[in-house]
Amino acid sequence: MPGFKIRIAPVEIAQPEAALRPLEFSQRWDSPYDNFGLRPAVSVFVTRPAYIRICVHACSADVEVGGVLVGQWCADEQTGEEFIVIKHVLPARHTRQGSVYLTFTQDTLVDLHDQIDKRFEGEKIVGWFHTHPRMGVFLSHYDTFLHHNFFPEPWQVALVVEPFSSVAGFFIRQENGVFDPTRYFGFHEMDGAFGRSVVRWQNLQKVEVESEGGSPYE
Ligand SMILES: [Zn+2]
Repeated sequence: MPGFKIRIAPVEIAQPEAALRPLEFSQRWDSPYDNFGLRPAVSVFVTRPAYIRICVHACSADVEVGGVLVGQWCADEQTGEEFIVIKHVLPARHTRQGSVYLTFTQDTLVDLHDQIDKRFEGEKIVGWFHTHPRMGVFLSHYDTFLHHNFFPEPWQVALVVEPFSSVAGFFIRQENGVFDPTRYFGFHEMDGAFGRSVVRWQNLQKVEVESEGGSPYE
């Protein structure tokens, strides 16, 4: 369509929202690559409804499926550390699905931006997700290409879910700009403390809360 522009990147210089990290009542899940001295540019918080939607959608088909992750990009008021909060999941409707790849088309992104404007005003695409049925958790060369082209912000992440063995991980750019397609990170499950966790991804390890001068929940 001549003259038609896709809003992949915002026109103005975007700034993170000032907020406190919602650590209270969150359950941290570490990947095998967390705590190896890597410094992801953002930490990831996922609401329970968003986590459940991801899992339902991931199990909906035997081929690769995917979509975008919608929510907020924030900087902690006290520490300045950046984080994203994934609140909504929008399955991509116009992807070209095959057994071994998923891609985004221009129609996909137009459709997704329309949905966000209508339903989640003020929120952002903080990343994307797709499944790797029976393939494992990594980003292919093509996935990496998609990530850099359609999700170029330092705070935008890529989630890969393998629904059959129930493993998953977040690929996040590091503070120095390095993006490793083989090493993924865990996340914070919001409202997942006190044994109420709904996370079932087998490759992530629950991080027990350390009591430093009293429980943060008191
Ligand atoms: Zn892939």
